[in-house]
Amino acid sequence: MSCIFCEIVKGKIPCYKIYEDEHTLAFLDIGQEGFGHTLVIPKSHSESFINSNLEELTYCIKTAEKISKHYIQNCGFSGVNILINNGESAGQSVMHFHIHIIPRKNGDNILNWKIPKDETSLEEVRKMLEVKE
Ligand code: 5GP
Ligand code: ZN
Repeated sequence: MSCIFCEIVKGKIPCYKIYEDEHTLAFLDIGQEGFGHTLVIPKSHSESFINSNLEELTYCIKTAEKISKHYIQNCGFSGVNILINNGESAGQSVMHFHIHIIPRKNGDNILNWKIPKDETSLEEVRKMLEVKE
């Protein structure tokens, strides 16, 4: 099955590259939801956050940290949102693991979380979700 981000890694589909190293690639998101919206991907294919191995995740986190620092220290931003969508229900549309970096400035109002308030008691939620190893 063809993967659009693997095609980008191979150079078969062009991208606006921000950074590249041996294991990761970072490029501008084509959707331009936010100035400088960037994606960090591992060069080797893995479907999602929970399907990636720790090594790949670490490489991507390091690259995301490097780019975030660059945006904040050198590019005039005061913060970044780091976002990972895992699974279709969570909004993942490209099934090659990626980290979104959304550069932020005070008052830019570009990302408004619209998560409805849940009324379940926290103790009930805790009982349902606690990790039992
Ligand atoms: P997701 O919704 O899976 O978390 O994010 C996938 C992102 O990939 C979307 O924000 C979408 O705009 C971006 N995207 C999809 N196809 C391409 C492409 O061909 N090139 C680039 N640069 N971004 C893409
Ligand atoms: Zn891929």
